[in-house]
Amino acid sequence: MAKSGKRIPISDAKSIGNKNGYNQVIILAWDSETGKTSVCTWGKSLVDCDQAAQGGNRIKKEILRWPEELCNDRPLRVKRSINKKTKHTVQCSFCKDDMVVEKQNPNEGSSIYFCNNCRPEAQKFIETFNELDEKLK
Ligand SMILES: [Zn+2]
Repeated sequence: MAKSGKRIPISDAKSIGNKNGYNQVIILAWDSETGKTSVCTWGKSLVDCDQAAQGGNRIKKEILRWPEELCNDRPLRVKRSINKKTKHTVQCSFCKDDMVVEKQNPNEGSSIYFCNNCRPEAQKFIETFNELDEKLK
C-alpha cells in the first residue's frame, strides 16, 4: 500500500471498539518516513464520544505538540446535541396547567415554571419569600 498518510476514518476506530468491546477508542498513528501523525477518536455514546475527543485533544496538545487551534476538536454529534433544544411539557408550579418550554434536556435548569398568567403573581410571591428568608437569617 502506498503511503498516503491520510486521515484515519472514525469508522475504523468504531470497528476496533465494537470488535474488541470498548466504548471509547483513541488511535494515534505516526509514520517515521513522512513524520505524519494522525489522531482519530470514537465513542459509543454521546458522553463517550466527547470524552474520547477530549483525550484525543490532550494527545495532540501535550504529546504531539500540535498547534493549539488543532487541539480543540469537538465531535459534530456533541456540538449538535449541545445546541439542540427540544420542547418539553412541564407544569406551571402555581396553577398546575401544562405548558411547553424549550430546553436542552428534560432535567436541565430549574424545576419551577410559571405560565404567563401566573408569572406576575409568582414574582410577587418569590419576592415576599426572599424578604422573609432575609429576615430569618
Ligand atoms: Zn399558571
